[in-house]
Amino acid sequence: MNYDVIICGSGIAGIYTALNINSNLKVAIITNDKLESCNTYLAQGGITTVRGLEDRESFIEDTLYAGGNENDLETVRLIADEADENIKKLVSMGVPFNRDDNGNLLYTREAAHSKRRILYSNDQTGKYIFLTLIEEMKKRENIEIFSEVEILDLIVSGGESCGVLGHDKDKKILRFLGKKVVLATGGIGGLFKNSTNRRNLKGIGIALSKKHGVGISNVGAIQFHPTAFYDPESERRFLISESLRGEGAKLRDLEGNRFVDELLPRDVVAASIEAKKKETGSPYVYLDATELKGDFLKIRFKGIYENLMKKGYDLAKDLIPVTTSQHYFMGGVTVDMDGKTSLDGLYACGEIAFTGLHGRNRLASNSLLEGLVFGNRVANDINKTIIKNESFVGNGSCGRAKLKIENYIDIEKIKEENRRVVIDEILKVREDLKDELSVN
Ligand SMILES: Cc1cc2nc3c(=O)[nH]c(=O)nc-3n(C[C@H](O)[C@H](O)[C@H](O)COP(=O)(O)OP(=O)(O)OC[C@H]3O[C@@H](n4cnc5c(N)ncnc54)[C@H](O)[C@@H]3O)c2cc1C
Repeated sequence: MNYDVIICGSGIAGIYTALNINSNLKVAIITNDKLESCNTYLAQGGITTVRGLEDRESFIEDTLYAGGNENDLETVRLIADEADENIKKLVSMGVPFNRDDNGNLLYTREAAHSKRRILYSNDQTGKYIFLTLIEEMKKRENIEIFSEVEILDLIVSGGESCGVLGHDKDKKILRFLGKKVVLATGGIGGLFKNSTNRRNLKGIGIALSKKHGVGISNVGAIQFHPTAFYDPESERRFLISESLRGEGAKLRDLEGNRFVDELLPRDVVAASIEAKKKETGSPYVYLDATELKGDFLKIRFKGIYENLMKKGYDLAKDLIPVTTSQHYFMGGVTVDMDGKTSLDGLYACGEIAFTGLHGRNRLASNSLLEGLVFGNRVANDINKTIIKNESFVGNGSCGRAKLKIENYIDIEKIKEENRRVVIDEILKVREDLKDELSVN
C-alpha cells in the first residue's frame, strides 16, 4: 500500500497532524486497537491555553517551575507563541468546552499553574476533543484509517524512512510504504504494572528508534500521577484529575490530617504521598472532596463521580483512597522544532516525542497542547517538503527497499523483542523502576 504520509497513532497528535496535512496528499492513519483506544480519549482535566500576551511569561515560568528548569527554553517559548492559533482552531472545530451563561469560555486551574488558563469539557476533555477531531476527519477524503493494525517495524532504506510494517488482527503482515512517516504512538504506560494509561501503549516509538539508530532522549523521565484511585483489582488505574485539587479537594493521611500543599508540582506531591505511605504502612492516602458542593461535583466531575459511585464511593461524602501511578512519559524520540527525528523522512509528535517542553516533570494539561502545536508543525513541514507527484515505488532507495516478509513470521517474538528493548532502555537509567515494570 502506498501513501504520501503514514501516521502511526490515532490520538490528538496523530489526528491533528493528519488534519493539517494538505488535502491533496494521501494519508494513512494506523492504530493498534480501536480508534479511541488512546490516552487522548482518557484525558480528564483539560488543555492548557496561553491567555494573551500578558499570560505568556507566566505560562513560561509555570512550565519551567514544574519542569525543575530542565526544560528546553526555546521549545517552551515556541509552545507559548503557537498555543493560541492552535487552540483557536480546535475551538472553531466545535469542541464543547465549558462556557458561562453568556457563552464565554471558562478556564480551570491545576497544580503548579499560577492562574486559571485550562480549557475543559467537564472532566472528559480528551473524549470531547477526540470526538470532535474524528468528526472533522470524516470530512477528509484523503485520510484512510487502519485500526487494529499493530506496527512491528519501520521500513528503512538508504538512510531514509520508507514506511512501516505491521500485522492485522488475523496476523496478516501488512506493508505500508510512505514518503513520510510520523510516529504518534503515545506513551509507555502499557509496560507498567500500575498505570493510568491504556494497556496498548508500550513505547513502540522508542523500540523502533532504538532498533534503527534514531535518537532518543531522557527515557528515565517518567511521571507518576499523585492521585489514581487505589484499586488493586483493576488492570488500569483510574485517574482522579488534578483539577479536583485545583477546585479545592485536599489530601489527607489515615488520621485525616493534611500533609502537603496539594497544588505543588506533581513530582513533589507524588513524592510526599509515597513518603506518607511508607510512614504509615498503608498502600494509599485519602483524597477529600467533601467540602465541595455535591451538586457541583456531580456536574463538573461527572465522569469521576459516576465511576467512583460504581466502585462504592460517593465523592461528595466519602474519603477516596488514592495512590501514585505511572502516568506520563517526558522522554521520547528526539525531534527538532519541526518534529523531525534524526532519520530522514521520519517525524515524531505527541507523548512519544521528546521536544524538551516538560523538563523533569510535565506541567498539568501541557501534553494535549504539545500534541497540537507539534502536530501542526510536523504537518507544515511535510506540506512544504513533500514532492507531490513523485512516483514512489520504483524510485530511489525506497523503491529498491527489499523487505523479507519471512523475517516477520513470528509476530509474538517481535513484539516481545520490541517491549524488551524499551524496558531495557528504561532500566539502564531507572533501576528503581524494576518492580514497577512487568519485566517477565
Ligand atoms: C487518564 C489520563 C488523563 C490525562 N489527562 C490529561 C489532561 O487532562 N490534559 C493533558 O494535557 N494531558 C492529559 N493526559 C496525557 C495525555 O492524554 C496524553 O499525553 C496525550 O493524549 C498523548 O497523545 P498522543 O496522541 O501522543 O498519544 P495517544 O493519544 O495515547 O495515542 C497513541 C496512539 O498510538 C497507537 N499505537 C501505540 N502503539 C502502536 C503500535 N504498535 N501500532 C499501531 N498503533 C500504536 C495507539 O493505538 C493510539 O492510537 C492524561 C493521560 C491519562 C492516561
